[in-house]
Parts: sequence; C-alpha cells; structure tokens
Amino acid sequence: MFSALSHLDCSRTCERYDADQVQGVSAAGVPLLARYDLEQVARSVTREEIASRPPTLWRYHEVLPVRDRANVVSLGEGMTPLTALPRYGAAIGLPRLLMKDEGLIPTGSFKARGAAVGVSRAYELGVTGVAMPTNGNAGAAWATYAARAGLDCLIAMPVDAPSITRTECVASGAELYLVDGLIGDAGKLVNAAVGSRSGYQEVSTLKEPYRLEGKKTMGYEIAEQLGWRMPDVIVYPTGGGVGLIGIDKAIRELQELGWIGDKLPKLVAVQAEGCAPIVEAYESGAEVSEPFPNAHTVAFGITVPKALGDFLVLDAVRRTDGTAIAVSDADLLAEQRALASADGAFICPEGAACMAAVKQLRESGWLSGSDEVAVLNTGAGLKYPETIPVDVSTLPVDGRIPDPA
Ligand SMILES: *Cc1c(COP(=O)(O)O)cnc(C)c1O
Repeated sequence: MFSALSHLDCSRTCERYDADQVQGVSAAGVPLLARYDLEQVARSVTREEIASRPPTLWRYHEVLPVRDRANVVSLGEGMTPLTALPRYGAAIGLPRLLMKDEGLIPTGSFKARGAAVGVSRAYELGVTGVAMPTNGNAGAAWATYAARAGLDCLIAMPVDAPSITRTECVASGAELYLVDGLIGDAGKLVNAAVGSRSGYQEVSTLKEPYRLEGKKTMGYEIAEQLGWRMPDVIVYPTGGGVGLIGIDKAIRELQELGWIGDKLPKLVAVQAEGCAPIVEAYESGAEVSEPFPNAHTVAFGITVPKALGDFLVLDAVRRTDGTAIAVSDADLLAEQRALASADGAFICPEGAACMAAVKQLRESGWLSGSDEVAVLNTGAGLKYPETIPVDVSTLPVDGRIPDPA
C-alpha cells in the first residue's frame, strides 16, 4: 500500500467527499481535509522503517494522497535541517531555540512541499493544467513542479511580489500575469479564467485539498528529527496559514498513529503589523478574521488580508494554548541581520518575523528560558536580496584597505 488515503472531510461539517474525484472546497465553501486509514498505516509501517527511507517528504507516503508511486513528481524536497541557533538563542534568552530551515529546499521556499504533493495528485487525477493566484513563492514552486510533471500552469501575482519569483515562473514556462493589486485581486482574475479552460484546476490556497498534505510533512519531520516527540512551542509565519494548519493536522495524525506522546506543542501564529487579521481576531476572541485594510509588509509571503482557513488557524492556536502575535517590519528586519551575523543563517523576512516574535514573547515572559522552541524559517534570504542594504565603498585598483578602527 503506497497511500492509505480514504476520503475527504469538510473542515466545518465533516461531510464526506470522494477523494478520487478532482475536488475544490466543500459545499459549505470551506477547505476539504484528506483522511487516511491510520489503523492500517500503524499496522503496515514502523517508525524504524520510515527512518531507513530516502530523505525526502515522500518517506511518509502512507499518509500522503498519491496512490501510485509512479505518479510522484519530485525534485528531492523535504527533510530540511532542524538547526540549533546557539549564539542567537542565548542572546535572546532561549538557549534551546531551533530553526527548521526551509530555505534549503527546491525553489528556496517551503511552498515546494505543497507543490510537490499537490501537483503529483493533480497529475494522478488527470488534471492537465493548474492555475493559481500567489504572493510569489507558491507560484514559483507550482510552476516548477508543473513543468516537472508536464502540466500547463497559469500564475497571477501582485506586481510587488519578489521579482525572483517571476523569473522562476518564466524559466519554467508558466503563463504569468502581474496584477496591480493584492493576492485577492489576482485570485479573482484566475477564478474567472479557469472557468473557460478545460482540464485546468484552480489550486488557490486551501481551495484544493492536497497542498496542505505536502505542508503537513513539516510536522512529521520535526517529530522524527526530535526522536518522535514534539518541542514545547512551534512558531510559524502565517499568511494563508496552511503550514500551521498542516502541522496541527500532522500532530493529530501522529498521536492517532501512536508515534508520539500526548504532549501538544503550543502553536504560535506570527503576522506583520501591516497585515495582521488573524492576530486581531485572536485578540478579540473572534472565530473568523475580518479583511485587513491597506495590507502591506516587507514579509510579502504573509500579506494575506483574509485567509480562507482563518478559523482553522485560530482553532489550532487556541486548542494548543498557543498565541498569535504581530511584529513590525523594522523589528523583523533587525532580527534578520542579527541572526545572520550571530549564527550564519540568512533567512527570509517571514522567518525573521518569527524571530522577532520569539524575542518579544521571551521578553514578556510568555516564553520561558527553558522552553524548546522550533521556528519555521519558510524560505531562503537569498530570494529577497533587497531586504539588506549594502553600503560599502568601491576601492580604486591601486587603493588600500583601511586599517581596522
Ligand atoms: C507563503 C509563505 C508564507 C505563509 O504561508 P501560508 O501557508 O500562506 O501561511 C510564509 N513564508 C513564506 C516565505 C511564504 O512564501
């Protein structure tokens, strides 16, 4: 058995859907969640056997949706390092700080996980083209994996999205459009276009069920890398929230499989002050978020003014005794440099938002110095070269390097 996928569930009503048809959202308009026969998985594979498999996310194939191994579209994604940050951690009072470094994955962002699994399953179900709005990294990753699978790909992104992500789409041969607006505006264009194209599936965030399955593998990997247990706290930069919802789903599956104990990590959703709809909803006690006006932050990947899965993020944060916190662009940019100079890790601004958040949560006493905290760095700093100003002088060829001050 390659996959134990059994069916899909509506995330609000639990109504069942057929997993072997192409599906979008449920009749209630909310995400569908993939369900597996976990008893069968627990009987057929052990943690030791998984540990002996190749170091990609496909090592968890029983709990992924692709039924036939031949349909797996892979560029070697997954099993990114869970790295200690000794100097930076000590400096902010968290000596047990860990970073799951998703910068070291094809396309340089964790969007590769969702794309690998989403594209593989779309290919398996006979889809011939995928279309999506994106803040950049998801489009780049889906374009890359669509090329690998031989699928057509239509991407629309805000004109302000990181320019490297456009380049990646063009390099992969995707049909690319830039929109003078935000991701929601790109979404309207894509939705209208897909209606008239046969064979195309709209694969916007949480509007198809399998991207989430790819992203949940971050939770499986954290558990495996810690010797099949969870840290005290997991901190995630939240846009659409797919990574956090996925990690929460992974933890519940792992517990049902009996592969980790009962301890739940606190899940922390981090946003930027310039786009913090989920933080506002968390603070006001609301179950869903309100669209955030005039959204803007340098952490472009988390510029999502209204997320389809907001209620799932809020539920996960509250159920695990976690929290939601917003940080300023100035603070996250400062932490991006502080971490790179302390521990040699050049992370993306979204990951840096999490560093600013853990620093503040330690200062406020929400985190204690003995907590083991795992931060998701969702992408490589290399994809955002303009976030660090470089102000150095050019020397004449016969010049001289000044003596140290
Ligand atoms: C997309 C993205 C995020 C946010 O991911 P969601 O699943 O939408 O919450 C965070 N960081 C980076 C680098 C991203 O590209």
